[in-house]
Amino acid sequence: MRSAILVEPKRIELREVEMPKPSAGGIVVRVRAALTDGTDLKAYRRGHPQMPMPTPFGHEFSGDVAAVAPNVTKFKVGDAVMCVHSAPCGQCYWCQRGEEELCESVMSTKILGAYAEYIEVPPHIVERNCYPKPPELSYEAAAFLEPLSCVVHSLDFLDAPVGASVLVLGDGGFGLMHAWLLALRGVRPVLAGRHDERLEIARAFGVQEIVNSRKADVRDVILALTDERGADALVECTGVQEVWESAPSLVRRGGTVSFFGGLPSNARVCFSAARLHYDEVRLISPFHFRPASVKRAYTLLTSGDVDPRPLLTGTAPLTQIATVFEKLDNGAGIKYAIEP
Ligand SMILES: [Zn+2]
Repeated sequence: MRSAILVEPKRIELREVEMPKPSAGGIVVRVRAALTDGTDLKAYRRGHPQMPMPTPFGHEFSGDVAAVAPNVTKFKVGDAVMCVHSAPCGQCYWCQRGEEELCESVMSTKILGAYAEYIEVPPHIVERNCYPKPPELSYEAAAFLEPLSCVVHSLDFLDAPVGASVLVLGDGGFGLMHAWLLALRGVRPVLAGRHDERLEIARAFGVQEIVNSRKADVRDVILALTDERGADALVECTGVQEVWESAPSLVRRGGTVSFFGGLPSNARVCFSAARLHYDEVRLISPFHFRPASVKRAYTLLTSGDVDPRPLLTGTAPLTQIATVFEKLDNGAGIKYAIEP
C-alpha cells in the first residue's frame, strides 16, 4: 500500500510499504478521509519533537474496518469508524487521577500514518477512543473527531460562563473551532485573525464579533467591547511567541489566559510579573484530551447539530499530498481532506 512519509522538513514522499496487520485486539482501517492540521503543518515546516523524521504522517482520520484481530468483538470488517490517534494507559499515576492527557505513555503509544491507504489501530485505542461512524455523517466530518476533542478539552479548562467575553486569537482551524464551540455554548466569542476569508467562515458558525488584526488593533477592540476592562478569558491559538507574550495584556484583572497553540520546544516566553500577580491574571495551558472529551466530541458530531465541513478548504487524493502541504505552507487554505 502507499503511505506518505515526512522525510525531512518540507519533503513528503509517497512510499510503497507493507500492508499493516492487526495486532492482538487491534484493527486495520482503510482510510477514507485524513485531515491536514496545524500540528502537521508545524512538523512539515520545522520538525516536531513528537515526530522524529522520517516518519509516517497524518493523525486525523476516519475510514472502514479492513481487518480485525480474531479477539476483536467491538468492530467487524466493513464497519465505518472514526478514531483518534491515541489513548491513555489507564494505569499510571496521571490516569489514576483522571488527568489522562498527561498519561505517561499517551504520546509514546500514539499512531501516525493516516495519510496512507491503511492504518493499524492498536487495541488500547480500539477499546477507548474508537467509535462507529453513522452513515449520515460524512467521512470528512467524522475525521474532525480528533481536533474537536482537543477543543472540547481546552474549553473544559476555561472558566467561560454564558455572557462571558472570550477573545480567541488566531483564525486557523483551531481558532475557528474554539470560537464555534464557544458560540454554541452561548458565550459571545470575539475572534481575531489576519484573514478575512477565514473570519467570514466564523460568521457562518454564529460568531458575531470578528477582528482583522491587520486592519484594527485587537486591544483597542476588546477594550471597547468590555467597558475598558479587557476580556474575561482568552484562548491563544496562533502558536506564535509574540502573540503568547501579548496575551496577558488583553484580559481583564482576574482574567484567564489559555495557551492552546504550542511553541517550539526550545521557546522561552516573557510576561510582566506585576500583571500576573497584582492583577491576578491566570495562565493555563490545556494539552491534548481525555477519553471523556473524545466521547463529547463524538456526540457533537453525531448529534447532527454541528457540521464542521465549512472548515474544509478542499479535498485531494493521496498523490497530491506534497502539493497540499506546499499550499498550506504558503498560507492557502485551512484544512484539506486527503482521500486515499
Ligand atoms: Zn496512563
